[in-house]
Amino acid sequence: MKEFKAESKRLMELMINSIYTNKEIFLREIISNASDAIDKLHYRSLTDKKIKVKKSDFAIIIKINKEDRTLTITDNGIGMSKEELENNLGTIAKSGSFDFKEQNKKKENIDIIGQFGVGFYSAFMVASKVEAVSKAYGSEEAYSWSSAGIEGYTIKKSSKTENGTDIILTIKNGEEYDSYLEEYEIKNLIKKYSDYITYPIKMEITTNEETKLETINSLVPLWKRDKKSIKEEEYNTFYSDKFFDYDKPLSHIHTKAEGTIEYNSLIYIPSHASYDYYSKEYEKGLQLYSNNVLIMEKCPDLLPDYFSFVKGVVDSSDLSLNISRETLQQNKVLKTIALNIEKHIKNELINMQSERREDYLKFWEAFGLQIKAGIYNSYGANKEQLQDLLMFYSSKQDKLVTLKEYLDNNKEEKFIYYACGSSIEQIKTLPQVETLTSKNKDIILCPNYLDEFVFKVMSKYEDKDFKNICSDNIDLDTEEEKKELNTLNENSKDLLSIMKNELDVQEVKFTSRLKNHPVCLSTLGEISVEMEKVMNAMPTNESINAQKVLEINFHHPIVKKLQDLYVKDQEELKKYSKVLYAQARLIEGLPIENPTEITNLICDLMVK
Ligand code: ADP
Repeated sequence: MKEFKAESKRLMELMINSIYTNKEIFLREIISNASDAIDKLHYRSLTDKKIKVKKSDFAIIIKINKEDRTLTITDNGIGMSKEELENNLGTIAKSGSFDFKEQNKKKENIDIIGQFGVGFYSAFMVASKVEAVSKAYGSEEAYSWSSAGIEGYTIKKSSKTENGTDIILTIKNGEEYDSYLEEYEIKNLIKKYSDYITYPIKMEITTNEETKLETINSLVPLWKRDKKSIKEEEYNTFYSDKFFDYDKPLSHIHTKAEGTIEYNSLIYIPSHASYDYYSKEYEKGLQLYSNNVLIMEKCPDLLPDYFSFVKGVVDSSDLSLNISRETLQQNKVLKTIALNIEKHIKNELINMQSERREDYLKFWEAFGLQIKAGIYNSYGANKEQLQDLLMFYSSKQDKLVTLKEYLDNNKEEKFIYYACGSSIEQIKTLPQVETLTSKNKDIILCPNYLDEFVFKVMSKYEDKDFKNICSDNIDLDTEEEKKELNTLNENSKDLLSIMKNELDVQEVKFTSRLKNHPVCLSTLGEISVEMEKVMNAMPTNESINAQKVLEINFHHPIVKKLQDLYVKDQEELKKYSKVLYAQARLIEGLPIENPTEITNLICDLMVK
């Protein structure tokens, strides 16, 4: 007897002692493996003339033997050699869908089974012994793999006439398991979970003296069936089964295209990012079929990067079976299908946004960043396609809104105002934001590092420019106020220049944009303070400096103090300049370059 590998052992243990209520999924897992095995042989036969199989012979056959308490699932697929039995069944599924170690740290028993396709080992939830007798296609020898649990497994020579695999389950003793030996129950399970399987699933039915095979599944794959005949539950089961996500998808888009190019597609928008979505290993793509035969597990050319989270199936008889990855990219049919699919996805999202806002917010939470990156990475080329999917936080409405909603709520405004920072709460406390909100302005609050870059590459939405209220000039003053401010700045030229010379800024000036706070920072040119932070956080040697302007509130009593110092003590004025500038940097979330000097200065001023 051989021992299971450590991970396999743990998974087995989970299965054997499972209290999971949906134990019945074991049958789906085994049938799905059988169907994959037939797929593999079928596909090989299409490209290799030496392989002679008839498509109509392919089948999965299920037999019940109540006396022995066995349930046998037979396929005439590719089969497994001795090594394959050893490698595939002796170790836990290598399929990327199941990162057992990772997930096991966080999740409980029940969750694991619920979240993933657990594969072959799920048989141990209902069987006390599992045997796989297999003969690889083209081989003369058959082998049997068997295990009665955690202790290990044995592989020995066996005999079998046809290629393929028999999975023989000895069903556990106990009333709760008896139903897995009942014809009607097995039929129900096939209908419930495996109806979409494209090969006939036949059951051996015994009536009186006669035994015959009855096909249970409807054979037409879900994506080819009439929409009206499909229940929501069937769509969801198909999704979880195929894409190993046991949370319901937010939407499905089922399309049948007829005309110059014919295809069926069934596309899903997941409700959350898969655990590997943000990892390097994640591959985007849709399953590609040609007339019910799988030709590629993940065809990347069917999805633009910004919709890489989408899952689904495309089946087109206009694609030839032995199409290669290289020729696929050039393929006109595929290109057209990809464009159509992109349209479908976008329309579905726009629809969800207006009809099912709660679902859309879930989508946005999961994949919003992807959409923003889609605009930014293309330098705005995808703007038209994606801009209406964007959501931003409106200060006035205190919630996420679309840009269109922002414009509708602020019809009289000439600009789209925004402010950046590290969180909604922090941005709300920025002096410039407080001033504008007190004037009843609606400001888009941008806590994400990409937001401002997105606005920069978009440059406009409809006919309105984006305005960063912290760096751009915002003209909200009355003529009188403007005059007063101008005079003050004119008359204080010398004072302001002494201050400027003390600091690493382009300009120091009095401002009317502040309400209660004494100072703020603004910038000249294209690079804002927020952009400086983001760009300097990137791993390059270049350091980027926004051209900063120190603005001083012209209503604040500090103005009087500065004017006094200018007359009486210019050295002291310089110290004040440094402290005020440090304050402005702190408010913006920028570091202070000389903290010891500044704290000493503050203390000096305190003891005066
Ligand atoms: P998964 O199907 O997710 O890869 P499983 O644990 O269900 O994981 O199966 C492990 C592997 O065993 C499969 O990838 C396949 O190579 C092999 N296998 C299982 N059942 C069969 C079968 N009926 N015929 C051929 N190979 C099979």
